[in-house]
Amino acid sequence: MDSPPRSSVIIIGAGISGVSAGKVLAENGIKDMVILEASDRIGGRIRKDNFGGVSVELGAGWIAGVGGKESNPVWELASQSGLRTCFSDYSNARYNIYDRSGKIFPSGVAADSYKKAVDLANENLKSLEANLVGELIEPPSSPKTPIELAIDFILHDFEMAGRETETLMGYSVKTEVEPISTYVDFGEREFLVADERGYEHLLYKMAENFLFTSEGKILDNRLKLNKVVRELQHSRNGVAVKTEDGCIYEASYVILSVSIGVLQSDLISFRPPLPHMENAYPGSNILVVTLTNGESKRIEAHSDEETLEEAMGVLRDMFGPHIPNATDILVPRWWNNRFQRGSYSNYPIISDNQDVHDIKAPVGRIFFTGEHTSERFSGYVHGGYLSGIDTSNSLLEEIRKEKERKSESQTFLLEPLLALTGSLTLTQTEAVPSLHKCDIPTQLYLSGKVGLQEAIL
Ligand SMILES: Cc1cc2nc3c(=O)[nH]c(=O)nc-3n(C[C@H](O)[C@H](O)[C@H](O)COP(=O)(O)OP(=O)(O)OC[C@H]3O[C@@H](n4cnc5c(N)ncnc54)[C@H](O)[C@@H]3O)c2cc1C
Repeated sequence: MDSPPRSSVIIIGAGISGVSAGKVLAENGIKDMVILEASDRIGGRIRKDNFGGVSVELGAGWIAGVGGKESNPVWELASQSGLRTCFSDYSNARYNIYDRSGKIFPSGVAADSYKKAVDLANENLKSLEANLVGELIEPPSSPKTPIELAIDFILHDFEMAGRETETLMGYSVKTEVEPISTYVDFGEREFLVADERGYEHLLYKMAENFLFTSEGKILDNRLKLNKVVRELQHSRNGVAVKTEDGCIYEASYVILSVSIGVLQSDLISFRPPLPHMENAYPGSNILVVTLTNGESKRIEAHSDEETLEEAMGVLRDMFGPHIPNATDILVPRWWNNRFQRGSYSNYPIISDNQDVHDIKAPVGRIFFTGEHTSERFSGYVHGGYLSGIDTSNSLLEEIRKEKERKSESQTFLLEPLLALTGSLTLTQTEAVPSLHKCDIPTQLYLSGKVGLQEAIL
């Protein structure tokens, strides 16, 4: 049985946030860390697989936010590694909407639906704001028809990029909805990672900076794979972390990088509990289909054969009955993965930053990180990357303050004692119990029933 010595920091989860957090700690002299990862690999929601003879991305695929006034740090990492990417042109996405029979919707119909979607988003915002101040307003209806749903997806996922006023086929459309920081800060372009080494190559490059690697493999025994954390017991003196296989790891601090879906599940228990919260692959013949919310859960529950049949039905309606069957199908099931429980966090559109502040506020010696703790970039790879850096910097600051407090309390106790006896040795003063006061800021416990929207698929 593994009974390792106490380390300074345990990082739980080796996705991009956990790995970037580890790198920052190591750069700042904290080398005695342990990284506990539940699965048999690093990368988390960045994951590739081989499908139809090419490497495809099952999780994050795009580097979103490129070409703007600031440089996206993940784009920089990709450039340094020479990662092959491919520009995704969405400029015409809203006019390229097909109906089930394969006919493209006339541009007037698409423009009309687009205007309705923008109006709906603004109405939604007003209704939510009114609800917050206690006014009763009829909630606006949500998109229902296929074209409304398609436009809603395009608008919310690709287009809310900070344009105040938009002229659209003669309509002047004003979007008052909060712009997406990713596109405002880093630019509106998106690039699909199309590299045999996968998006995950960026994590291996990062790991090389602080973990022992050979021939692209991590051989450092501070990284422990297949370690499913089930319990965190924390006190003012440290944190004990129990894994599913019965091992116990102890550290002064923990950085917890699991997804919001895992935090909402009962995979990890906290003792004492956390305070409660009230309130297209180029050159291949692969088609990629993105499903969201209810549809993705419905499809995850089906067998691959059923899904293939359903998809072929749609394709035959569109392209005629004689098209050949797809030779294979690959369905990632992020919702059913107990180490993920969804694809990425999706905060309500008018949530202020308080939700994120509360979610990332440390509880004693447990620090939280991951894309869901990023105020500006939640849901993205660069959100995970930057949150790992931020969390490690906060932890380093806490360690520095703790040292200061310790030396102050020692001086405070030592001076009068020395005046009295004049004979205390250093060893005796070291034996004086630390008067370290551990700040316990507010942390909200996330259960499946809280007001936050669940992580979306
Ligand atoms: C289908 C899909 C498409 C996406 N598309 C894009 C995109 O195109 N562009 C983009 O920028 N972002 C995209 N994202 C989002 C992006 O992948 C994430 O924001 C980012 O990878 C999250 O990193 P993280 O470190 O916060 O979390 P994770 O990658 O989830 O890392 C957390 C780690 O914790 C581990 N873990 C969980 N529970 C335990 C436990 N009990 N004990 C030990 N370890 C545990 C997990 O195995 C995982 O390795 C997509 C995500 C998905 C799923």
